[in-house]
Amino acid sequence: VELSNQIAAGEVIERPASVVKELVENSIDAQATQVLITVKQSGIKSIEINDNGVGIAADDVEIAFQPHTTSKISTDHDLFNVKTLGFRGEALASIASVSRLTVVTSTDGKSAVRAEFAGNTLLNKETHARSIGTTIKVEDLFFNTPARLKYVKSLHTELNKIVDIVDRLAMGHPEISFRLIHEGKDIVWTSGNSNLQQTIAGIYGRTIASHMMEFENSDEDYTIKGYFSKPDTTRSNRSYISLILNGRYIRNYQLANAVIRGYGSKLMVGRFPIAVIDIGLDPSLVDINVHPTKQEVRLTNEGHIADLISEGIKAKLSTQNL
Ligand code: ADP
Ligand code: MG
Repeated sequence: VELSNQIAAGEVIERPASVVKELVENSIDAQATQVLITVKQSGIKSIEINDNGVGIAADDVEIAFQPHTTSKISTDHDLFNVKTLGFRGEALASIASVSRLTVVTSTDGKSAVRAEFAGNTLLNKETHARSIGTTIKVEDLFFNTPARLKYVKSLHTELNKIVDIVDRLAMGHPEISFRLIHEGKDIVWTSGNSNLQQTIAGIYGRTIASHMMEFENSDEDYTIKGYFSKPDTTRSNRSYISLILNGRYIRNYQLANAVIRGYGSKLMVGRFPIAVIDIGLDPSLVDINVHPTKQEVRLTNEGHIADLISEGIKAKLSTQNL
């Protein structure tokens, strides 16, 4: 069982950021309104995710860590679940198989259970106390798979990947407060008050967020809203252009280009804006089958959405004396 979990883990858990992604997505699924992520040594030493979600029932704790077990409806046709379909019910088992993992969880805020796993073996299970929610601590990631550990890049790269994941999840969920602490330092801390601009402030800082411009350009089928930096606040790469589609961070080259196009000649060559674009549409208008494991999403009428974005930004910029 352990071996097959490690093989499965090879697909899902390739680095510390994958652990953060899977665990935070579980917290979101558990209806948490607050998610605290505490990381040491870029996640190699430890990753702790603390949420105030619904918790795991004491009797279900071992089951949750078995491969292929999920409490979530498997017939769910929500297109955004398609990309994680292959990993359904595998994340906890996979993570536990390549780390030392401790879970403390409570469904009622009175009784809690604490369980310890090492390489998927349950070492200990005891009653505990905590408020409603779940804390999962992952230590010594890849301690039993030295080959995997070798693939982990520099601590700097790994931390950036973690920050990236948290940024994206936070942007897609302004209604949840995310806090990321690395080595005692706050990196991300969003308000969770549903305000996208304040969420951006928790990610890029108040100064940048407060200088961003807001736009909206919707029609019957598409709701396009967002914030973008003035042409004097730019970056040397396009990774600061974020696209949120129905609450999910996506990658789409054409739509990111549309943001840049909206600036026209106001943007210096080789410079890219900071932008967060929130796209709302009927899920049937999305085709996710292009790259199911990547975030690249194909959209019906992509050109039209791109136009709404670039026209919206262009119109807003033309009203300003910049
Ligand atoms: P999946 O998310 O695909 O169901 P996972 O292995 O990630 O599979 O999780 C297994 C199960 O453990 C989930 O279906 C859920 O019931 C439970 N679970 C995991 N994390 C949490 C959490 N933070 N809060 C509540 N339940 C959780
Ligand atoms: Mg999961």
